[in-house]
Amino acid sequence: MLHNGTNATVLHSSKSSQSDLSAAMKSSEATEKLFLQIVWDWLREWQILRSPFFPVLFSLTVYLSCCLPYIFLDLLCSRLILIRHFRIQPQNQVTWTKAWRCLCKCLHNHVCFILPLSVVHWYWRPVVCPPLAPEMQSVIQDVLVCLLLFDTQYFLWHLLHHKVPWLYRFFHKEHHLYTATFSLTAEHTGVWEMLSLGFFAKLNPMLLGCHPLTEMLFFVTNIYLSVEAHSGYEFPWSPHRLVPFGLYGGARYHHLHHFKVKVNYAPYFTHWDRLFYTLQEDDIEDIK
Ligand SMILES: [Zn+2]
Ligand SMILES: [Zn+2]
Repeated sequence: MLHNGTNATVLHSSKSSQSDLSAAMKSSEATEKLFLQIVWDWLREWQILRSPFFPVLFSLTVYLSCCLPYIFLDLLCSRLILIRHFRIQPQNQVTWTKAWRCLCKCLHNHVCFILPLSVVHWYWRPVVCPPLAPEMQSVIQDVLVCLLLFDTQYFLWHLLHHKVPWLYRFFHKEHHLYTATFSLTAEHTGVWEMLSLGFFAKLNPMLLGCHPLTEMLFFVTNIYLSVEAHSGYEFPWSPHRLVPFGLYGGARYHHLHHFKVKVNYAPYFTHWDRLFYTLQEDDIEDIK
């Protein structure tokens, strides 16, 4: 009897803890949903979101905002040993001439090519802002899938443009002007490379039917990761240290691509370079 009573108590307490857990999960899902809805409602009120100039302004603002902290570190690098310690090639200083050249290239590409294409895209496919925000889980999944697809497309594009000499000479060599990367080198590319990468970045959210908020978050993540990969800094909190099992390359690997040229073709993850035997990870200390 006592035994049965204990069982009933255990059963009751397990049922109540299960219902507590599901209630807590529902309430956390509701909080996430509410948070995204508040963000989305706030963004939808921006008239500029529907403007033909939004994509170019958004791309430029996010890119320069991602570069700014690294530019600040580059300025301090010659004065502070602590910052030099985290720079992958500390002997290679970032000069104003180099930074200005990259900035001019980026502005030229945005004004002459991304701006007219944004207007054409806006006319062809006007921005539609649905009233409901996406679910947090679908946002995370879609951003991750978009990144993996972009990584694959860029890996193939990049490999092809290194294997075929005339493709390298006419379309990709410009990105290899600097053997020691710094944040602003991320968008120091020729027109064909910039348009190809822009096309891949735009195509994937369209293929997956992503919500506009998810698409914006993917763009921000993609631009940040591209700047980080070119930053030339390796911090304890850099993405390649946070992602387990060496699945992510980031600054440590992409820096080596600019230095040695024929290794590490994937922009972010390491699986494609592993499969194609083009991954190099061991002698980064040699370049210091
Ligand atoms: Zn390359
Ligand atoms: Zn690069």
